[in-house]
Amino acid sequence: MHVDLSSLRLEKDTLINLLTSKDQESFNYLYTKVDGLRKEFVGDQVHLRGLIELTNHCRCRCAYCGIASDNTAVTRYRMTKEEVMASAKRAMESGCKTVVLQGGEDPGIKKEWLADMIKQLKKEFGCAVTLSLGERSKDELVAWKKAGADRFLIRFETSDPVLFRRLHPHHSETQLEDRITLLKSLRKMGFEIGSGVMIGLPGQTYESIADDILLFQKLDLDMVGVGPYIPHPETPMGRSYKEQPPIFVQDSVETAYRVIALIRLVCPDLNIPSTTSIETSEEGGYLKGLQRGANVIMPNFTPLQYRKLYEIYPDKTCVNQGEVSKKSLTKWLASIGRTISDSKGFRNKCSNDHRESCRKRAKC
Ligand code: SAM
Repeated sequence: MHVDLSSLRLEKDTLINLLTSKDQESFNYLYTKVDGLRKEFVGDQVHLRGLIELTNHCRCRCAYCGIASDNTAVTRYRMTKEEVMASAKRAMESGCKTVVLQGGEDPGIKKEWLADMIKQLKKEFGCAVTLSLGERSKDELVAWKKAGADRFLIRFETSDPVLFRRLHPHHSETQLEDRITLLKSLRKMGFEIGSGVMIGLPGQTYESIADDILLFQKLDLDMVGVGPYIPHPETPMGRSYKEQPPIFVQDSVETAYRVIALIRLVCPDLNIPSTTSIETSEEGGYLKGLQRGANVIMPNFTPLQYRKLYEIYPDKTCVNQGEVSKKSLTKWLASIGRTISDSKGFRNKCSNDHRESCRKRAKC
């Protein structure tokens, strides 16, 4: 297996060969090279983004997601401002410089309410604020940007339009193109933009995962998050998981690591989280992800009574865990030679010259 690490351009065929390679030893060698690239481009500091799962109300009926509106077994909640502020305080005390307000696509989250919340978070903690609340109106997004929000995350989930439609089978819901258009307009509004995909979806091919990686590169994203798809028994896709369509990706965790490594290779200066769905699928996965190209962790600060209700997939890591302290995070990261970042972790976009010198230092 030969890969020219000095080039940012990997052809689709090369990506497919790498994703499907049975030569694990060579791939492990590639992981060490990618880890060197990560060090040169974004350093040893790990950005901590404190995740607050604001609401599990959702108007969408995504076929994969445990909090989709069809799942009537879910007890719904929406956090109060006081609860969000208390969670954010704990996140700051644990070393986070960003809070991520994530939730279902919830019309109960009102424009003014969230704008005030964002202002209060900025005023009290001076932190970065990331939103991940699904597809919202332009009017709302402009108001939240104006209030001080810094980033917006919305995964396109897959670049295969046919699979995307299967994931979102209801007419009132979005098309793949709408997500891409939304990402582009968020960028124009001044947000840092993040997206991502799930790995191992029924019917998802390696070819489409190669296309996902090329689309990440084309969109010039600031952050990309990927993780294994984990079937939820109370969803249409989870119920028919073993039946059809075929599961092409046999090892979704290893494939997720490979995708992380390949993203670092083709987009070396962006932020990549080692995601909760990786850790849920494989204990120790957070650290492995960090050693295969990732540089961000999103510890959970949702109050415990709500955490178990935000069950997008079963057995989510951290549901019954207490909150992590700065001391334990520092020790945990030190075990792989990394430290907690003292910055808000905006993407430091590289010039071509800087790219060249980083690649030379990483000996690629
Ligand atoms: N509503 C917002 C949105 O859709 O962008 C944010 C919340 S949504 C639950 C966050 C992400 O969870 C989705 O983009 C999806 O990739 C991931 N997710 C949902 N169900 C999942 C599952 N069964 N396995 C793995 N990831 C899942």
